[in-house]
Amino acid sequence: MEWRADLIRQTVMSQDVDAILSIPLSANRARDRLISAGTKNGKFSVRSAYKMAQEAAWGKKGTEPSDPTILRGIWRYVWGMNTPDKLKHFAWKACKNILATKENLKSRNITNDNLCDACGKQSESACHIFCFCEKAKEVWVSSKLAIPFEIKPSWDFIDVVWHIQKRKDQCPGLLERIIAICWGIWKNRNEVIHGCKGRVGRAITRSSLLFLEEFQIVNEGLQANKVSAPEVVKWFPPRPGCYKVNVDGAKFSKRKQVGIRVVICDSLTEVVAALSKKMALPLGALETEAKALEEGIQFASDVGVKDVIFESDSMNICNLVQGLSEPTSSVQIIVAGILRQVQSF
Ligand SMILES: [Zn+2]
Repeated sequence: MEWRADLIRQTVMSQDVDAILSIPLSANRARDRLISAGTKNGKFSVRSAYKMAQEAAWGKKGTEPSDPTILRGIWRYVWGMNTPDKLKHFAWKACKNILATKENLKSRNITNDNLCDACGKQSESACHIFCFCEKAKEVWVSSKLAIPFEIKPSWDFIDVVWHIQKRKDQCPGLLERIIAICWGIWKNRNEVIHGCKGRVGRAITRSSLLFLEEFQIVNEGLQANKVSAPEVVKWFPPRPGCYKVNVDGAKFSKRKQVGIRVVICDSLTEVVAALSKKMALPLGALETEAKALEEGIQFASDVGVKDVIFESDSMNICNLVQGLSEPTSSVQIIVAGILRQVQSF
């Protein structure tokens, strides 16, 4: 059973189309039921409703993400950047709003003056220095970097990072370049404070991006030269008279497709039957593996093999069908269908 994608596109808002299509349908005509999107297991709770309401409010206001889950994601993203450590520390400080900006110094009563030295017009916050100051604008124009959203004056720096994180798949490497340039702006600002002559925007951009690129080239070389022991996964044939069905799913996020492979072998390791198919669905990794197992079971049933062992390389799916973990709401129906279907073997 497949979604009527054309009907969904006609009926719901475009931003919801992928969310619907990313839920795999069960081939077993399972009964519809209501699930809550706010919890992993699909069961409604007041806490989850409160969390969703808060998230909706942030989305509307575009203010600082204070949800611990979102924050954890941002910290992982920042500390996982492909940059020198000092840029990671700098980005983390800017997100935590603990850089020694004049606004922060004044709020701690260390200085009386919070005005930006570069323009003399605005309070010197992190967002002002890096986004709104005339000096910052000169730097960004020279960088020719396209920032795919509008930075609002009410934002903190962490909001900028959060919005880049939301587009990380469309804009790989963007955060690293933006942080490198912000770091260049900050370095130049500190040099001016200590009596040096400031550099022009183009020079700041060039030296910052060069610093980043040199690090990334060296880092790439180190990664490529790293010798890691290949992971050995042993495959054993089934006992005589029995068949083994191996299933595997792969998702192609950019193309919004998934690929599924099924191979049925006998005890002599001979391939009895194989299936490979592509589905135009934007499924996640877990949903793809669940769909692969469902397809594998259906294929084995169609081929007519009876004494069968099903094997998936997804530990999560293996745990779900064995009842060792609770299925997330998006695969509950598929897992229930799989458990019903395997009873026919
Ligand atoms: Zn300024």
